[in-house]
Amino acid sequence: MTALHLPKAIYDAMRAHGEETYPNECCGVLLGKAAPDGWRVQSAVRAGNTRTDSAHNRYHIAPVELVKIQREATRKGLDIAGFYHSHPDHPAQWSPTDFAEAHWIGCCYVITAVAKGKAQATNSFLLAGTTEEDKRFENQTIEVAEKP
Ligand SMILES: [Zn+2]
Repeated sequence: MTALHLPKAIYDAMRAHGEETYPNECCGVLLGKAAPDGWRVQSAVRAGNTRTDSAHNRYHIAPVELVKIQREATRKGLDIAGFYHSHPDHPAQWSPTDFAEAHWIGCCYVITAVAKGKAQATNSFLLAGTTEEDKRFENQTIEVAEKP
């Protein structure tokens, strides 16, 4: 059983991001290193929510932005550990759209519920499986550390 290891500063920043963009969704990318007991996140990069049709319940990171983030990660010796977004006035559970749009197998998908502008629960789901056909989300523990 793996966990998502997050320094408290990143955990808080991710949740604050969701409060700032409320009532729209926020989204970002988590960078870190893989360890036997799960991803160890070292930094979070905010991404612009490029969806203009319904930003309150959809999130999307433009491919060009993701390429830039990935290049930056490589330069720092890090990998993309996962993605985070918020659910304004909805529970911190993945939606069918979240699942359909999740393609990074082995990465974590973190969702923070934001109710009336206040961050509530934050949950992490590991995209397990080997292909697009057998992929699945597995509930994952988030370990928040005071120090990185
Ligand atoms: Zn979602």
